[in-house]
Amino acid sequence: MRPDEFPDDIRPYLIPRPSGDLFYRCLQCEGEFDIASLLYTCPDCGHVLLIEDRQWDRLKECPGSFWRRLFDYRRMLNMPALKGVFLFHELIAPVLPLEDIVYLGEGHTPVVRANESLRRFIGMDFSFKNDGQNPSASFKDRGMACALSFVNYLIRTQGLGEVLSICASTGDTSAAAALYSAYLSKNVKSAVLLPHGKVTPQQLSQPLGSGARVFEIPGVFDDCMKVVEYLAERYQVALLNSKNAWRILGQESYSFEVAVSLDYELKGKVVLVPIGNAGNITAVLGGFLKLRDLGIINYLPKIIGVQSEHADPVYRYYQQTELAKRVFRPITVQPSVAQAAMIGNPVSMPRVIRLVETYERMSGAPAVFVVQVTEQEIMDCQLIANRNGHIACTQGGECLAGLRQALAAGIVSQDEVAVLDATAHALKFVGFQEHYFAGDLDPAYQVIPRAELKNSPSLIRAPGLKRFPASGQPLPADEFQAFVEATAKEIAKELGLQERKGRDS
Ligand SMILES: *Cc1c(COP(=O)(O)O)cnc(C)c1O
Ligand SMILES: [Zn+2]
Repeated sequence: MRPDEFPDDIRPYLIPRPSGDLFYRCLQCEGEFDIASLLYTCPDCGHVLLIEDRQWDRLKECPGSFWRRLFDYRRMLNMPALKGVFLFHELIAPVLPLEDIVYLGEGHTPVVRANESLRRFIGMDFSFKNDGQNPSASFKDRGMACALSFVNYLIRTQGLGEVLSICASTGDTSAAAALYSAYLSKNVKSAVLLPHGKVTPQQLSQPLGSGARVFEIPGVFDDCMKVVEYLAERYQVALLNSKNAWRILGQESYSFEVAVSLDYELKGKVVLVPIGNAGNITAVLGGFLKLRDLGIINYLPKIIGVQSEHADPVYRYYQQTELAKRVFRPITVQPSVAQAAMIGNPVSMPRVIRLVETYERMSGAPAVFVVQVTEQEIMDCQLIANRNGHIACTQGGECLAGLRQALAAGIVSQDEVAVLDATAHALKFVGFQEHYFAGDLDPAYQVIPRAELKNSPSLIRAPGLKRFPASGQPLPADEFQAFVEATAKEIAKELGLQERKGRDS
């Protein structure tokens, strides 16, 4: 729709101008720092930062009902900068001019309701939100769209010639970082550090294809992260891990979209996310808090974080119910099929602790939970979901296993409705499915394939044929006809098909 066709009250707000006054806030010492330079940790005390807006309250001059209308109308506007996560410009990074915004098709991912048999299997109504349908096939694109838009803004306004973006990754962060950096390849070069042998071949191919320098490092993600932190402290690089608070802002769009998809009616709703480095759950909590603060939603949904028993430091932290006794202890991870979340020392843990406190205070009741699931449940749930029309990755399977767990534990009830984050596309993690089907998953995963979930191709070489077609070697017509008939009969036999009535054989 053309801008002049929108209603009179919407038009002045339709195309946002730069506004707000963003700054980094240290979660430990409360220090405030200018966004003119890229900061990842507090220069005074070394803690993680979040970005806040000094002029946030200006947004309260419009009622929640106005914001709802504006966001709903803005979806009809055809401006690339506002087509992705920056549809929610005012809530994400309002200081950025639209000309600097990088849009590669991220966000606004489909919400797909579970069919009846899957709902019955779980025992309640739920949908997957398919964040695997983002451009690099995971939710990480939401955060990168924001972080690289900010880098792009710095390049233009500060005349930076060449920026080196860098990140450590369990696979998807590097895919997204390399993709968005490649779009800005005139000024941005990218380097990614991956734990050797701990990302899937598909994930490895992504930064390679985007032209990034790819470094494989012995160890697990937590080890890579330390090397990247060391680099970011001593060298001129733009760190793109979720330690970078701009990524958190972009990822808040997930919550905004969940709210939109539910017509902003969040009562009785439950949102599930897998937890790895805890950037995603930080953003999900922060996003809903913003909506609630502006009156865009009237209830905060229940939030359930899910962890595998092979990588569960956040779960363990919240197992201690006495607040004063809670201590965070990093753990050593075991191999997990939810490999993108296989993290023992989540960088965003201090953010989570802070936001959970605020969230529960605002909710007036326990509203954030962390559940733990087995590797077996993760694999089985992923396969079961996909046998019912979904494209969930292993982390999406982890969410589904988490929902079952939460229902069994009485954390959610049957009359609530859940939205599960399918954080990446199934194809990125297809190796786990292959090994499950072949029955040769490394025993360290502790997954035993269930026969009824296995699947494998059958090669049909119909008996009685002397030769088969091969590329570049077509069969003579009569032999080919015999091949078609014999092969079709073989398949019909395999499938137990009935011949159609009234036809010659
Ligand atoms: C990164 C990632 C996670 C974990 O998200 P965090 O923000 O690290 O907690 C889960 N699933 C997928 C597919 C991911 O790429
Ligand atoms: Zn500080």
